[in-house]
Amino acid sequence: MEQSYQLFVDGEWMDSISKETFKSYNPATGEVNAVVAKGGKEDIDLAVKAARKAFQSGPWAEMAPSDRGRLLNKVAQELWKKADYLAEVETKDNGLPINENKMIAMPSMIDVLEFYAGLANKVQGETLASPPGRFNYTLKEPLGVVGAIIPWNFPLMLAMWKIAPALAAGNTIVLKPAEQTPISLLEMVKIFKKAGIPDGVINVVPGYGSDAGNALSSHPDVDKVAFTGSTSTGKIIMQAASKNLKPVSLELGGKNPNIVFDDANIENAVNGSMFGIYFGQGQVCASGSRLYVQESIYEQFMEAFIDKAQKIKVGNPLDPTTHMGPQVSEQQLERIEHFVKTGVDQGAKLVIGGERAKVDNGNFFTPTVFENVSSDMTIAKEEIFGPVLSVIKFKDEEDALQKANDTLYGLTSGIWTENLKRAHRMVKGLQSGTVYVNTFSMLDSVAPFGGTKQSGFGRELGIQALDMYTQTKNVWMDL
Ligand code: NAD
Repeated sequence: MEQSYQLFVDGEWMDSISKETFKSYNPATGEVNAVVAKGGKEDIDLAVKAARKAFQSGPWAEMAPSDRGRLLNKVAQELWKKADYLAEVETKDNGLPINENKMIAMPSMIDVLEFYAGLANKVQGETLASPPGRFNYTLKEPLGVVGAIIPWNFPLMLAMWKIAPALAAGNTIVLKPAEQTPISLLEMVKIFKKAGIPDGVINVVPGYGSDAGNALSSHPDVDKVAFTGSTSTGKIIMQAASKNLKPVSLELGGKNPNIVFDDANIENAVNGSMFGIYFGQGQVCASGSRLYVQESIYEQFMEAFIDKAQKIKVGNPLDPTTHMGPQVSEQQLERIEHFVKTGVDQGAKLVIGGERAKVDNGNFFTPTVFENVSSDMTIAKEEIFGPVLSVIKFKDEEDALQKANDTLYGLTSGIWTENLKRAHRMVKGLQSGTVYVNTFSMLDSVAPFGGTKQSGFGRELGIQALDMYTQTKNVWMDL
């Protein structure tokens, strides 16, 4: 039976002021998962007010950093108890196979909270060299109210990348989840409340991007906007935030090159490249969607790759034996079909897939591989955000580097080689925020993640992310 969800503002559940709702669908079945209150501008106003109040006075504002860390660790302990439940909720919301949710997304999400909980009492300034008769030092202070806008592909994990450093540094936060996947975040804040996070510190206003999202990113009383989503929306958000000169961090799209040299361990490269493109049904910003294979091993590599790709089990994401679940929505399916048609029309060779997979009433798509792709084709340039791989041959290092960097994006890239010197040369030459060597799509709380070029700016995760949620105050004192 479908459930209903309200907004979570100032520690309370409430209807939206307009009383409007929207439906959230299970992408594997097409059934309605839940009816959700649809937040708009006035609801965002209320949430920002609550977050401001909690930032300025009351238990959160007065809490010692060590106690803040302890409280965030308590939330993490509660999250571990509910991790499998949250994984199921999220799988029904966005279709990520349950094993990937249970073994990768949830543990990594909670690890991020623990990592920043441990840093809550290590946010510190410096004593500076001071002239005689003066004392000169810096303080690291929280920014205030953070507005966070979240996409649908890993709703909890990508929300936590913002919640954890923001709260550890003493900020408060208002989150707007994606309209396709609002439920898991609304379930997760119940756990924050139960663990004792004070009212107003974390608020969730589900709603549409052009409405609640726009209100949040342009709100005059929001001190920072943290966004993960598409490059086109990132540009709109930056414009909206510029009205009040608000700092923004943007984690945007990618069209990431994955380069296999002829001295690579072929079996590892095949397995890693498969994970690189098909993990999360290809709906992963870091995915290796442009595969470059050196001419001399091309036939051998592709034969092994296609053989494996054909064995991928597409199906019910709640079945632990499923490798690939559904795409998040009918619109995404149509978008992917459009790219496939464009690939064929522009002369690429469709080797496998390219069509919907008939499983229940869901939004399933088959693992797809295009060969004979050239760099000027749309499928080599634009982010498809689906299980579609574009394969391109290359001659040598120079050719690989030129082709790999020939993109507007710069999020991740991968190289497969047993040659250490070559690996270092490629790492230096590749224009991306992350480079994977003989692996792909790795993440860890300690490792800063983010893009260059039109994949955005700012780094989430790692100690560095605290800089995005703090400001430096310089103090001069006459002695
Ligand atoms: P999207 O940009 O359409 O939506 C993301 C969020 O922005 C949603 O919550 C949406 O409601 C909101 N939004 C939409 N229009 C808005 C507006 N005008 N003002 C304010 N908010 C608005 O992206 P998506 O389709 O949900 O996610 C897929 C995209 O996200 C892909 O491009 C992918 O590469 C990118 N992504 C990037 C990362 C990263 O870390 N770099 C991670 C995951 C996804």
